[in-house]
Amino acid sequence: MSTHPAPQAGAPAPAVQAWVGLGANLGDPAAALRQAVRALAHTPGIRLLRTSSLYRSAPVDAGGPDYVNAVAEIATTLAPHALLAVLQALEQAAGRERPYRNAPRTLDLDLLLYGDQHIATPDLTVPHPRMFERAFVLRPLAELAPQQVPPAALQAVQDQAIGLWRPVGWAD
Ligand code: ADP
Ligand code: MG
Repeated sequence: MSTHPAPQAGAPAPAVQAWVGLGANLGDPAAALRQAVRALAHTPGIRLLRTSSLYRSAPVDAGGPDYVNAVAEIATTLAPHALLAVLQALEQAAGRERPYRNAPRTLDLDLLLYGDQHIATPDLTVPHPRMFERAFVLRPLAELAPQQVPPAALQAVQDQAIGLWRPVGWAD
């Protein structure tokens, strides 16, 4: 006999805390991030907990306008791949095209962390494989979840140019 109580019929699945990286550098990038956060908040299975400040960063390994970046903290009952599908659908809805690697984009949504899970599949790697090289991920993530960002990691990206996106933020 199991020592665990059986899950009650209709009981909600336990929510996992996750962090999503947002970036855009075409059109009205701050508006794209606002729209994406609104859409996340209205997606069944996702509860928006907090958002970081909006940051501005220069493109890495590419030309084009500066990026606007932020991180959203969510609680979700979606499985990791289902969450990735939601993020990719939102990228598509924002008109995202992938003409070449690191091309400018209307919206980039990355699943940075999903609880404390490590995931290695062909289309999804968590923690996000490049997040620890990127100040535009680590700075906003550290604002929300400093326990997830070792000081040495922040120090390693301190030479990357990044600042706040104007003095104003989301409500702009
Ligand atoms: P990047 O965000 O690194 O600039 P893209 O947004 O073009 O690159 O993503 C390329 C691919 O990365 C996607 O097709 C997706 O399947 C894959 N991928 C792997 N792990 C993740 C993750 N944690 N979050 C988002 N996409 C991921
Ligand atoms: Mg991406």
